[in-house]
Amino acid sequence: MDNTPIGQLLRNAQQDDAEIKRRKLTLYFISYVGGTIIAFMAWLNWGTNNPLLVGVLTTSASVIYLNVALSLIFPKSDIFYYFAGLIVLFTINALVYTGGLNNTGLYFIFPLLFIQIIVVRFKPAMLYVAVTIGLSIYMLYNQDVIVAKYPAEHVSRFLIATFCFICVAFIGENFWHKSRKEMLRENLERMRQANTDPLTKLPNRRFLETVFFERAMKDPGAFFPLTAVVVDIDHFKKINDTFGHDIGDEVLIHFTSVIKSAVRASDIVARTGGEEFLVLFPLASLSQGVKLAEKMRKVVEESPFIEGDINHNITASFGVATALTEDKLHASLKQADDNLYKAKNGGRNRVAE
Ligand code: GH3
Ligand code: MG
Ligand code: MG
Repeated sequence: MDNTPIGQLLRNAQQDDAEIKRRKLTLYFISYVGGTIIAFMAWLNWGTNNPLLVGVLTTSASVIYLNVALSLIFPKSDIFYYFAGLIVLFTINALVYTGGLNNTGLYFIFPLLFIQIIVVRFKPAMLYVAVTIGLSIYMLYNQDVIVAKYPAEHVSRFLIATFCFICVAFIGENFWHKSRKEMLRENLERMRQANTDPLTKLPNRRFLETVFFERAMKDPGAFFPLTAVVVDIDHFKKINDTFGHDIGDEVLIHFTSVIKSAVRASDIVARTGGEEFLVLFPLASLSQGVKLAEKMRKVVEESPFIEGDINHNITASFGVATALTEDKLHASLKQADDNLYKAKNGGRNRVAE
């Protein structure tokens, strides 16, 4: 897995929205619809000779509503899904234990099991389902410990049907997960290619606009003040004209590694044009940015391109500007560009702020 900051930013940009929505909808479904059905059944059984069933149903409905309320208050926490799985475990076994209305409780176990599998997710769901059904089997074969009475042939048919149901449900889940994972992997790979410059392997302009700046806007506290340094190689056309375009390409690769060696891995170095780069320093002031630009300038100056007979000094010009807040981002990028032209006009191989 690509654990570079770029790789992480790309992975974050590709949020698994479909899966998050599916689980959320299932949780809301069991909570609102399931909770209401259970509450309604508690009301139907009110006054029958099964106060235990009424108690169990009322408790289930209340805990379900409480769980969904908490999940709305803490939308980022995963714990409510697992808790919902436990509520289902409890409800299923309470139904087996009490028998529901006239021992019809077993019918409701199929939808409840399916909800459990979706909400808890594939692997932990295996454990949940095993425990749930294990408890049920124990009660069904030890009916002296429970309130309900099920005829033996109902028990065996119910368990066979449950077994088939669980197999089909897990096969379906398994393929959904596998195809989803594969799709996400392919999508990430396509995204990586679309956001990378093939020559230098640096992130490109598209990455900055569709991934990096979007992320920075979403979480400004982690990025601003953001200092931008626009870098342009001096007289690059002359390198192409003198040594040919292929050597020009190699100079660009060499230049990339020189610039990268001068900054931290968490800083963003992108190729924004032919021989133009943008280096972004999150949480850095203008004076820090100017120092870093000066460091880059020096390292470039001291790292000539050497290959075969070629030993060519390279210099670059730098324009620095800082966006203190997110609303100043585009203005500061423009400012950094203007400052680059100041550096060029001032004689090149320099930093302008
Ligand atoms: P200045 O100091 O003013 O920046 O001069 P310069 O020669 O660097 O700037 P100019 O914009 O005149 O020329 C840039 C050259 O970069 C022209 C273009 O052919 C070349 N170039 C752009 N992309 C590539 C590339 O991918 N590979 C190679 N080898 N050259 C490229
Ligand atoms: Mg240039
Ligand atoms: Mg240029």
